[in-house]
Amino acid sequence: MILNKTLALWRQDFPLINELIALKETSWFNPNVARAAAALADVGLTAADVANASARLGRFAPYIARAFPETQVSHGIIESEIQAPPRLQAALEQRYTIARSGSLWIKKDFQLPISGSIKARGGIYEVLKHAEDLALEEGLLKITDDYALLASDDFRKFFNRYKIAVGSTGNLGLSIGMMGARLGFQVTVHMSAEARQWKKDQLRSHGVTVVEHDADFSAAVAQARRQAISDPCCHVIDDENSTCLFLGYAVAAERLKRQLDFAARTVDAEHPLFVYLPCGVGGSPGGVAFGLKLVFGDTVHCLFAEPTHSPCMLLGVYTGLHDAVSLQDFGIDNKTAADGLAVGRPSGFVGKAMQRLVDGYYTVCDEELFRLLALMEETEGMRLEPSALAGVPGMARVLTEQQGYRVRMRLTDSRLAHATHLVWATGGSMVPEPEMTGYLATGKKLLQEEAAGAAGGQDGIDFFQTRHGQNSGGSAG
Ligand SMILES: *Cc1c(COP(=O)(O)O)cnc(C)c1O
Repeated sequence: MILNKTLALWRQDFPLINELIALKETSWFNPNVARAAAALADVGLTAADVANASARLGRFAPYIARAFPETQVSHGIIESEIQAPPRLQAALEQRYTIARSGSLWIKKDFQLPISGSIKARGGIYEVLKHAEDLALEEGLLKITDDYALLASDDFRKFFNRYKIAVGSTGNLGLSIGMMGARLGFQVTVHMSAEARQWKKDQLRSHGVTVVEHDADFSAAVAQARRQAISDPCCHVIDDENSTCLFLGYAVAAERLKRQLDFAARTVDAEHPLFVYLPCGVGGSPGGVAFGLKLVFGDTVHCLFAEPTHSPCMLLGVYTGLHDAVSLQDFGIDNKTAADGLAVGRPSGFVGKAMQRLVDGYYTVCDEELFRLLALMEETEGMRLEPSALAGVPGMARVLTEQQGYRVRMRLTDSRLAHATHLVWATGGSMVPEPEMTGYLATGKKLLQEEAAGAAGGQDGIDFFQTRHGQNSGGSAG
């Protein structure tokens, strides 16, 4: 029984559940999408909130530039470039048998400074907001000050009176730990089972307390919350519910608009923009998509991508049950090599807030993530972690869908011919070399097997087990 209903009845009422349980790659185009002008009101946050977040990041820029010298080139603004990958686009057209339609772009968040993933947006933003709140309250700082002064021993001593706790699958902890520790906070990161060893090692070397849990992300978040309840000096960063994180991600949209303008990519009804976002708990894709809808309205179409073993957001939105159910309730194991996406229960806030704003959700199997990882490096020389490839099949899913989506959204062939398809490449530049070598070897092997006709879409390789059984550099991850 799941919420007073048998599994058989759930399967009958929501047929797509059968595909999710069978771990088949699937796509679901959301029939409830509404006009941005109406649906943005569901979120409970506004353009003014995003503008505030953007202004706050601007105030902190002088501090960031001083504390992290690698950000001096961008004057302390943590941002990534966009790039067209023509060889990858050609390879994908062949791979998924689709005709040329529109152009493919990549948002290179794997190169974001400080933590090498999209979490450098929301995670770092919430730490900065908390630091600012504390310093303003104590009368140590005015918002008109040059925040570079935060890089002093006095401020480090002040922030050292306070603690930050967070539950993470790896990258959020890395972002919050690196930023929090630099400011002087006592940071504890509760890592879920899939967190990579190098992320824990790196955090510990920066003085962050890492608590390892042999449980999934939701359990790690619960631990972080428990720690904060008993300690008034401890701020918990709650990825399942935080609107602050969400706003940090949303700031990406106005910056993307400037980048697209600079690249002379028009976005309007005749030139739609599609954005493919890997989704774990939903905070990062949700926040980015919210920002995009504010900036581009109905001309942007956002799709969320999840591993076949961890489709928690698709399950939650499709059934309308959101965070009331977990993958495990439906017998889905949440075991994926895409560690950043290994989440069993979606954010309740994001799923509900965005349920009329996200065009679709799709799943990708781990084998395909690895093949695309190898293909990305082969064609464009970009090295990503498995989670970051989930957006890559999105363009083909849109162009081959048969659920009436393109008709409903008036995405005619001529509009699609002028479309920009943006793959949000969410992480990877900090993966240590031996581990990246292992990822690439796995991807290449799978591509070769596929070319030899041997693999045939099998789902038999248990990457999760491989990883935990023998944590050597040469294994799948
Ligand atoms: C965390 C993460 C995501 C997904 O973000 P959520 O906020 O959990 O949905 C995607 N890619 C990478 C590399 C991540 O670390």
